[in-house]
Amino acid sequence: MRESTDILIVGGGLVGASIAIALDAAGRGAMLVEAAALRAPAQPSYDERNLALARATVNALTHLGVWKHVQSATPITRLHVSRAGEFGAVRVSAREAGVDALGATVPARELGNALELRLQESEQLTRLIPAKLETLQSIENGWRATLRIGDEVREVDTKLLIGADGSDSFVRAQVGIGVDEHDYAQSLIVCTVTPERDPDGYAYERFSDEGPVALLPLPGKRCGLILTVALEQSANILALSEDDFATLAQQRFGWRLGRLSRPGKRQAYRARRVLAQSLIAPRAVVLGNAAQTVHPIGAQGFNLGLRDALTLAELIADADDPGAPELLREYAARRKADREGVLAFSHGLISLACMPQPALAPLRTLALLAFDSVPPLKRMLAKRGMGWRGTPPNASLERTP
Ligand SMILES: Cc1cc2nc3c(=O)[nH]c(=O)nc-3n(C[C@H](O)[C@H](O)[C@H](O)COP(=O)(O)OP(=O)(O)OC[C@H]3O[C@@H](n4cnc5c(N)ncnc54)[C@H](O)[C@@H]3O)c2cc1C
Repeated sequence: MRESTDILIVGGGLVGASIAIALDAAGRGAMLVEAAALRAPAQPSYDERNLALARATVNALTHLGVWKHVQSATPITRLHVSRAGEFGAVRVSAREAGVDALGATVPARELGNALELRLQESEQLTRLIPAKLETLQSIENGWRATLRIGDEVREVDTKLLIGADGSDSFVRAQVGIGVDEHDYAQSLIVCTVTPERDPDGYAYERFSDEGPVALLPLPGKRCGLILTVALEQSANILALSEDDFATLAQQRFGWRLGRLSRPGKRQAYRARRVLAQSLIAPRAVVLGNAAQTVHPIGAQGFNLGLRDALTLAELIADADDPGAPELLREYAARRKADREGVLAFSHGLISLACMPQPALAPLRTLALLAFDSVPPLKRMLAKRGMGWRGTPPNASLERTP
């Protein structure tokens, strides 16, 4: 069986689902294929990790009709960045920035459910799930995709192929886009903890020689913990008793919120950076983790991937030919500043803030103090932290009710 669609989206994770919804909201049809069955634990995006969503992301999800389905979001009203054993910290507050919240914390599973509910409302979208892209063949003015749906094999011709298929993207490899990879040799241990004091809207990032640790506010006085550890220590740390793990988390985070207790189920993720050497190929685009997988501690991956999705949707919504080369070049040009800024920020921050050289300590302290005390630098940090860089997509902008 052979059919055709103007736009074929491969991957229905957080970013693939988002572009499908953004196109539907713009009245543009597309086909979305996702390999994992609905709510399968195998779906990488929709697990227990807690996501820090920037204000621009919350705006966009509201605009797209996704946010109304989110049951439990916790506003982030203040951000505190520091380094263990060194003087100085950066503090950014929503009040100083003139907004009610800098963003919000949402469990990824919860965001996945909200996207799913919004996908079910879409009118223009054809969804194949579970359906796996197995082969791709270049054809005149497009791509021919072979999809496996159970025992059935289907061929679909498309003018624009969108690879939102994650860090090890099959689409990216097949359309000939190379990658630059960096292994941080670190593992991120993710769980919830209960601090003695209410986090009260604070999100914390604390750097140390052992790596960064982040605490995100959750409902009911709980916090989402992301602890970076050396890869070779990961298995031992996962196996620690609850008390020993809480002691380790305390050592790494400090006492800013009093005693940390009751750590929840722990999950480990490997930290790596995978950067596509190009965002586009003839009649193809890669988005989200397929375009750039960044160190999770900077809380940038989905925020950046959503801006990829919104920008592309805005450019192709009304196009006669959504895969036209000039449109795709325009897309790559529009994403350049935001992408490069986020990549430089997350990689640079992790490299500098985690380098154990004591000689760098005064420089780091100076940088933290400068960011905290020079108003234009602080405003810039607040604006970027809220997700506005380069040319922001319209859906992410502030709206007056
Ligand atoms: C511990 C941790 C904490 C994080 N915290 C934050 C945070 O606070 N804020 C933030 O913004 N980001 C955060 N991130 C990053 C964020 O989770 C990712 O950037 C985001 O999930 C990427 O989504 P994606 O849709 O691009 O890719 P994926 O989630 O990898 O989805 C890809 C999808 O494609 C499907 N697929 C793959 N191959 C095929 C195929 N051949 N055919 C059909 N389907 C296919 C897969 O089944 C999958 O569903 C964090 C990441 C981690 C690991």
